[in-house]
Amino acid sequence: MKIVDLQVIPFWVPRRPFRHGEWLPETRVVQTLTKIVTDEGAEGYYLGGHGHGDADGLPPDERAVLENRMKNMLIGQDPFDREKFWHWMWVANLPENILSVVDMALWDLQARYFGLPLYKLLGGCREKVPAYASTFPNMGTVQDYADHALACQREGYTHYKIHPYYFYDPVTKLSDPGRPSHIEQDIEVCYAIREAVGDEMVLSFDPWGTYRTYDDALRVGRVLEELDFYWYEHPMNEYLVGLYEKLSAELDIPILGPEIAAGSIYTRADWIRRGASDRTRIDVLRGGITGVKKMTGLCEAFGVRCEIHMSGFANLQILGSTSADVCEYYERGLLAPGIDYATPPPYLAAIADPMDGDGYVHLSQEPGMGYQFVWDYIEENRIDD
Ligand SMILES: [Mg+2]
Repeated sequence: MKIVDLQVIPFWVPRRPFRHGEWLPETRVVQTLTKIVTDEGAEGYYLGGHGHGDADGLPPDERAVLENRMKNMLIGQDPFDREKFWHWMWVANLPENILSVVDMALWDLQARYFGLPLYKLLGGCREKVPAYASTFPNMGTVQDYADHALACQREGYTHYKIHPYYFYDPVTKLSDPGRPSHIEQDIEVCYAIREAVGDEMVLSFDPWGTYRTYDDALRVGRVLEELDFYWYEHPMNEYLVGLYEKLSAELDIPILGPEIAAGSIYTRADWIRRGASDRTRIDVLRGGITGVKKMTGLCEAFGVRCEIHMSGFANLQILGSTSADVCEYYERGLLAPGIDYATPPPYLAAIADPMDGDGYVHLSQEPGMGYQFVWDYIEENRIDD
């Protein structure tokens, strides 16, 4: 079997942005579907690939790299030779999300070809995964956060992760790009949520690298320890690897990271070696399914947990193929009061991550990544560029 084509299909989708605690007017954004085709008719797909999970379409410059350089590399090749392509793509210094999209479309292709859910092809380990509710940042008042945590607990979630206040002033309720963090209010949110949900619920905290000093990061970390939080994620900018070593040595609460640092498995192996975090973090846009599977093997060998970053179909397939001793939770979200998470976007017949009343997300048993495309919608809203 040989690859004969690679296409990126852009199409419009409606989106109502939630920003700084407010709903903005509905707009439309570009979603993309990357498609790889073989001479035997087998096809593979990847949805999105630019940013969060599989929800953000590729912009024109990234589509051009796929439809020119990547297509030229793949035409005539065996679609099952992913490991070879992964090597080629790293040697060629391609952007991590681009090489990830190619890798995942090819995994989808092989799983569809054999009629298996992708996680079974990878080596099945579980059919359901415990989820945590992952909030939007700047979700409202301290009370809004506490009420939302309680609502999530009632919905079945056993774990709640706070993205607190950043690039936004919770007092003036205005955007605040020059003062990225507001630790007094962040601390108030943590106390209010622990008070609201009681001792049973697992809580974790992610200020997304916005603490500008070691002292701020340490002070909030001490509060999280007092409140028995489960992990402290990405407190400072991830270039500050030396300060992460110091913080991990100083605090008892596990430090989780790096999450957005470039360099896929290579950067993360170095963080583990240096003791810069206690649990590591990666997602499928930082090396594809192939890269994340390599990372989970590395983590298992070191006895270090690898928490998968972000929601989406491909991240969930990874979780289905790993033990909870290596990758424990699925990040479900982002969530905020009023968000209808259970209704699929118009181009899909089902969401990636349906959750039961006990807080478990169940893996799709469809062949491949689990997508159920609404082709009529995609064709009707296709952008000809
Ligand atoms: Mg995070």
